[in-house]
Amino acid sequence: MLTIPRISLVHGPTPLRPLPRLGAELGIDLWVKRDDMTGGAESGNKLRKLELLFAEALARGATHVVTCGGIQSNHARATALVAASLGMRCVLLLRTTRDAERAAAPAGNVLIDRLAGAEIHWVTPEQYRERAKEMADVADAIRRDGGTPYVIPEGGSNALGALGYTLAMREIRTQVAAGEGPRVQAGTAFDSIVLACGSGGTAAGAWLGAEREGVAAHVVAVAVCDDASYFRSTIERIADEAEARFRLPGPALATLDVVDRYKGPGYAVSYPEMRATLIRAARTEGLVLDPVYTGKAFHALCAEGRGFGTRVLFLHTGGLPGLLASADDLATELAF
Ligand SMILES: *Cc1c(COP(=O)(O)O)cnc(C)c1O
Repeated sequence: MLTIPRISLVHGPTPLRPLPRLGAELGIDLWVKRDDMTGGAESGNKLRKLELLFAEALARGATHVVTCGGIQSNHARATALVAASLGMRCVLLLRTTRDAERAAAPAGNVLIDRLAGAEIHWVTPEQYRERAKEMADVADAIRRDGGTPYVIPEGGSNALGALGYTLAMREIRTQVAAGEGPRVQAGTAFDSIVLACGSGGTAAGAWLGAEREGVAAHVVAVAVCDDASYFRSTIERIADEAEARFRLPGPALATLDVVDRYKGPGYAVSYPEMRATLIRAARTEGLVLDPVYTGKAFHALCAEGRGFGTRVLFLHTGGLPGLLASADDLATELAF
């Protein structure tokens, strides 16, 4: 598994820290893995996947990468910046529902996409449902122009990308062994690891590594869209492909819980209880979450209290640019 080509993008190991005040309020031993700090403007969970995906793109002589996401996709932004840093062109298929959205001055992630020189193709939700075909068409056009495209699926969530999170479990294990985590005598370091789930790759990779690396016996994937049965089958498919392709050692698998009670009205739509948690995390621990992903996952953790176990690791997957693009969302709570 370690011989799989990987380029170095992550500034790791990312910090593993206790959250003592929130933990005391919830009656649990609460920790955070700061994967919102994997890098600079390109930071977040996607960078761990891109270390493997861009290695493959380079090995294939790619001149262009093509990927897709919502208008405020963190994955698209990270891909655009990494492509620029490697001298590659980047084409993004970004989903919008409203013309006003694409006409507005770019903010947050899409501002950085523009800054990085990515070529943006706006797609409707209907076209986005056919995203694999849409991206294949873009790749064909690049080939006709003499380029070599490399297509990265939504969220970087295929078997290769997910492996980035299997390797992240090893990083956590090393930190715990070095005394940077909780002191544990036996069993896994944490009862559970809680993370936001949007395209399934992070959950699949963590699931493959959590028990094998002695990190956590349970993986709790908090869905930010769709539903539990959709994500369970998506995560299982990605994990099966990764196991078959990379021959991961040993049979040990953590249990996988997919929780869809905290997504609220829909993808990227917030709700009052989640916004209250987002503000509470910032004020109690200086932990800044985003309203699309980490806010919902962390709200699940707070709402469940001891339901996810008594020693819990929250995986902070990033998303700050999305927060900065959605100030209006917090206007009531912050009184402006
Ligand atoms: C993409 C993303 C996630 C979800 O990860 P998936 O692997 O797509 O499920 C969680 N948090 C943030 C901030 C993200 O950008």
